[in-house]
Parts: sequence; structure tokens; C-alpha cells
Amino acid sequence: MKLTTLLSASLLWGSSLAIADEHKSPLTVTPVAKQLHVIYGQGGNIAVSHGKDGLYIIDDQFARLSDEIKKALGNIQTNRAEFVVSTHHHGDHTGGNENFANDGSHIIAHHNVYKRLEHKHGKNSKFLPVLSFGHDMTLHFNDEKANLKHYPHAHTDGDSVIFFTKANAVHLGDIYFNLGGLPFVDVDSGGSLSGVIDAVADILKQVDNQTIIIPGHGQVTNKQDLKKYLKLLKRARSLMVEAMSDGKTMEQVVTMRPLAPLKLKYSSWLPEERTTKLFYRSLSNKHTATKHHH
Ligand SMILES: [Zn+2]
Repeated sequence: MKLTTLLSASLLWGSSLAIADEHKSPLTVTPVAKQLHVIYGQGGNIAVSHGKDGLYIIDDQFARLSDEIKKALGNIQTNRAEFVVSTHHHGDHTGGNENFANDGSHIIAHHNVYKRLEHKHGKNSKFLPVLSFGHDMTLHFNDEKANLKHYPHAHTDGDSVIFFTKANAVHLGDIYFNLGGLPFVDVDSGGSLSGVIDAVADILKQVDNQTIIIPGHGQVTNKQDLKKYLKLLKRARSLMVEAMSDGKTMEQVVTMRPLAPLKLKYSSWLPEERTTKLFYRSLSNKHTATKHHH
């Protein structure tokens, strides 16, 4: 009995030491421009602007990663983020808001993100923005002019895209999934496939071949890849529209597998069938299926 206890205690001790030794940060920190870093982790990609005025971030992944993220920010410049811009309300982009707000960070997001976070976390929650805006907003900080622009009915109804005009970089949030497949369009949160297409087309007009393109998920890339993504989205939409002709029901369209010719891989949380259903619902919605004017 004693021996066993000793043995298991030492095994436990030994294994916890091994864990401590092998502890690796779940984050990868990459400089992408002079005063701009990207942090990859377990949620949406984080952009970090740093310079003479301090530091701020775009998105903050999950609450459980906040300490790791703050440590990484400390290695770049300071663990205190002046601002946190939330590209949209999803939990893998806003999960750390409360933890950052408790350190004095000011959360910034579109009015609709405020509404959705208020609905989820309650009034007076630290997850909520203290600054919310409508069409656009500009951060004049670190000798950088960062333009925050709202794209209505894209991935959700509260998407902001951040244009870093000096660093020549753009954070697209989840308007861009750079994972080789089709994006999640959150139709239940006011998202729309045509809205994503319009947003990407508009963003492409404002970037050049040197622009650093930061997607919500996947690796940082360039204009060429974003163009290919737009082509894929348009192709997917026309396949869907074709399949949906003659007033077919969603079940009929799902059975036809209209997206199969694209030969894409799907993740387990967003399989082909769910993607097809979301696109169907988006394209049957009179309010968001066609072009928008904002
Ligand atoms: Zn999202």
C-alpha cells in the first residue's frame, strides 16, 4: 500500500515535471511589418500594433489563453493593451475581452457586436465594447492610421475590417477563412454569402500586391490568394443558385450536392451539408441575398 502510494506519487511528480519542462505556448508570434505582429493560436488570428503610443490588438481568442496572450504581448512591447478591437462577436474572437478589460483595455467594435455581446453576457458585462461605432472609425495611434470599416451582412452583421494604412496590412476577421475551403456564413447572426462576396470584392479594390492580408483563420497571405478566394466564393454561389432554380426545397438541394464539383475538403464542424444549408438559407433570404448599399 505504502509502496504503491509512493510509487504513484513519484510517477505523478515525475510526469508533472515533464509537463512543466515540455510546456510550450499554444501561440505562435510572427512579425509581419515594422510595428505589426500576428499571433496565431486556438481562435481567430490576433493582430498586434505596437509603437510609441503603446500597443493594441485586434481580437483576443479564448479566455483561457488571455495570460499566454498577455505574456506574448509583453515579449513584443508591453502586456497592457490600450485597445482591443473585436472584428465580430464570436467567442473565438472575443473570449478574452473581459480579461483584457479588467487590465484596463478599451474594447472597440461595431454597434451590432455590442448588441450581440450584451445579449450573450448581459448588461454591464466587461465583454462589451466601451466604444462602438456604425459605418467606420479611425485609430490614430503609433504613427499609424488604422481604418475600421463595417461590412454589413457578411460573416455576421457586425464585421469590421481593419486597414493599417502605414503598415499596408488588412485584418479581415472571419470574412476570410484562409483554410482552402468555404467559409462559415453565420446566417443566424445576420451573415450572408453575397455580403461576404461584396466585402471581399470591396477590400480587393483597396489593397495592392504588397499588402499583408490577415485572415480570421489560417495563414497570413497576399492579394493573389484573396482573389482566388473571391473566385471560389463566386463559383460556389453560382452552383448554388443553379441548383436552387425552380423553387427547390433545401432538402432537395442538399441531396443534389451542388458544391461537389468544387472538390473541397470540409472540417468536421462545418461539413458540406451544413455549408450547403447555410448557403441555401442565405441565398433565399430576400434581404441579404443580393447587393447591398451602405
Ligand atoms: Zn466568426
